[in-house]
Amino acid sequence: MLADSMLGRLARWLRFLGYDTLYISMLSDHQIAARARAEGRIVLTRDQELSRRRGIRCLYVHADTLEEQVREVLAAIGDPPPGVESRCSECNSVLTSVAPEQARPHVPAYVLAAHRQFHHCPECDKYFWAGSHWTRIRSTVERVMEHRDGGAARTVPMDGPSGPKPSGKGGSLP
Ligand SMILES: [Zn+2]
Repeated sequence: MLADSMLGRLARWLRFLGYDTLYISMLSDHQIAARARAEGRIVLTRDQELSRRRGIRCLYVHADTLEEQVREVLAAIGDPPPGVESRCSECNSVLTSVAPEQARPHVPAYVLAAHRQFHHCPECDKYFWAGSHWTRIRSTVERVMEHRDGGAARTVPMDGPSGPKPSGKGGSLP
């Protein structure tokens, strides 16, 4: 997918959920369309004009709140590719699961105490962990999957990335 400039927050969450989502804030409509065509991506937009462009696959996002937007996109797009648990909210790279011992030097002590599993981005060298936002979005995702016709419920693991950190290498949520 390719999210337009109004959907940066949604893009970050779709990455967390494992969807390959490009987000480049400074692209013109023309550039977005060209990129989407070249890479076979679905454009996520709140721009009616862009959504009506010919030659690209577009999903016009109606919802105003993040949770509703996630719900809308998942209902339309379906499950993320298998094998990808989560992607980096910053750079879209696939995250790897790491043990608490490996994350220890890089996250605050209170985070380490409260979480069992962490994810690491090999590209940005950032660490991610699950936070309260994650739990809420996860339950949204589960509701969407449960209600989809013919689709098996997909359990999104608890150990997704999250949690704001003032600086350094911790993962932060929008
Ligand atoms: Zn990254």
